[in-house]
Amino acid sequence: MPLVIPAYAKINLCLDVLGRRDDGYHEVEMVMQSISLHDLLELSLSEEQENNNMGKIILTVAGADLPVGEENLVFRTARILQEYTGCRLGCSILLHKKIPVAAGLAGGSADAAAALLGLNKLWNLDLTVAELYALAAKIGSDVPFCIKGGTVLAKGRGEQLAFLEAAPDMGIILVKPAYGISTGEVYSKLNSAVYPQVINTMQKKDITNDTNDIHNMLCLSDLGPPVLRMIKAIKSRQLPAVCKALYNILEEPAMKMHPNLLDIKNILFEQGAMGVLMSGSGSTIFGITPDLEAAHLLSKGLSPSLGSIYAVKLQGAREV
Ligand code: ATP
Repeated sequence: MPLVIPAYAKINLCLDVLGRRDDGYHEVEMVMQSISLHDLLELSLSEEQENNNMGKIILTVAGADLPVGEENLVFRTARILQEYTGCRLGCSILLHKKIPVAAGLAGGSADAAAALLGLNKLWNLDLTVAELYALAAKIGSDVPFCIKGGTVLAKGRGEQLAFLEAAPDMGIILVKPAYGISTGEVYSKLNSAVYPQVINTMQKKDITNDTNDIHNMLCLSDLGPPVLRMIKAIKSRQLPAVCKALYNILEEPAMKMHPNLLDIKNILFEQGAMGVLMSGSGSTIFGITPDLEAAHLLSKGLSPSLGSIYAVKLQGAREV
């Protein structure tokens, strides 16, 4: 029986960029939220060996046209785990892709986090949660968040985490246009418009994985107004307050590249969404409804010509 691990997508309830760092990353402040849309990883042991006696990593992808070698984050994660632990076992991974690609939903990062969790079990590696977080941060900025997920404040390049209380219940409607958006391209548009100057590398702090650390983090640093507003709105447990606090600094540069995104946003509002925002660097636009049923209803009023449409709910943090 293969080991099956879900990989949940995320949306950004808030995404602010504080500046460009001299290490090539941007300093960000985000409130990330897991949603129920997910890929599935089916993992089993493989007896096959590479020439160098390392266990073979065999990746198969169903549901999307993605590379199955080093360019796939799942393959890369398995290789990194072999190198870090010296484990010589192999694996066969079947990735069922449901999360659209280049959509601002962190599909690749979610798969990488699921692969870390799954292979830690499959290969009996006994890695600690702290080790998993450190490896996750090496693989990608959004991967640490995807380990547990839930409602999380993320800082630094996205790898410094503080776990928030769960956001109030809501339904989410996702509209993913036929085109994807490259994260790098949106950031370069933001740079030329807002951040032409590179700032000194910001102080890098260790990754936090203490679930009660939000207070430390709030004391440690002055959070910017957009994330503070969202954190307060979540604390109030009032959905209209959350909708009012939605913010994504990347929305404007992305909409300049693809004016159609603004049309989608307006249509979602017209159809009754309480709040609408682009997720991450796009191209997905999400709308908020009171519950899943309302999201399904709203989806019925949308033309399929807008793109792929999903009605989903929030996903809480997982036990790790
Ligand atoms: P983010 O929200 O973190 O910016 P995204 O949703 O915009 O991510 P992804 O779907 O994660 O983007 O994919 C971005 C790129 O990563 C794609 O060009 C894709 O080829 C590559 N990639 C590598 N591995 C995967 C994977 N397992 N799933 C999806 N994309 C992958």
